[in-house]
Amino acid sequence: MKCKKCGTENPSLKKCCTNCGAYLEGWTVNNVTREVGYRGGDGLFYESEEDYLTKVEQLKNNQPMIPYKTSRDYSRLKQLLNEGNEIVCFSLKSKECALAKKQTFCDGQNFGYNFGCFHIFDHDLEEATFEQLCELYDVEFIEPDK
Ligand SMILES: [Zn+2]
Repeated sequence: MKCKKCGTENPSLKKCCTNCGAYLEGWTVNNVTREVGYRGGDGLFYESEEDYLTKVEQLKNNQPMIPYKTSRDYSRLKQLLNEGNEIVCFSLKSKECALAKKQTFCDGQNFGYNFGCFHIFDHDLEEATFEQLCELYDVEFIEPDK
């Protein structure tokens, strides 16, 4: 059985990967009951792969709701910043949160958008669009109240 985490090939009745120790996910025989079933990535035994995937889906849906509305509408973000608003942004790529704003940087030479953990300078926009750069940094922002 191939480990989904590190890709090591393991003997078919192994429960855990001999290389990284992760549970081996796939069809197997339960050592205790001798029943054939699907071992999930959580190490538990399921009647089918479907059952396991259903559980994973349920766990995902049970995650706490974020109490504010976020958006990836980067054209709107650009517009908001250009209007002088300060917008709370998350760069999912660097896992940071910052107050984004349009500004002139301290050297007086650079103009652009300050996202705290990264900047988009006006001269960057000659090579890529604002939207593409936000995409690159995996930005999500909080929709301000109207
Ligand atoms: Zn492994």
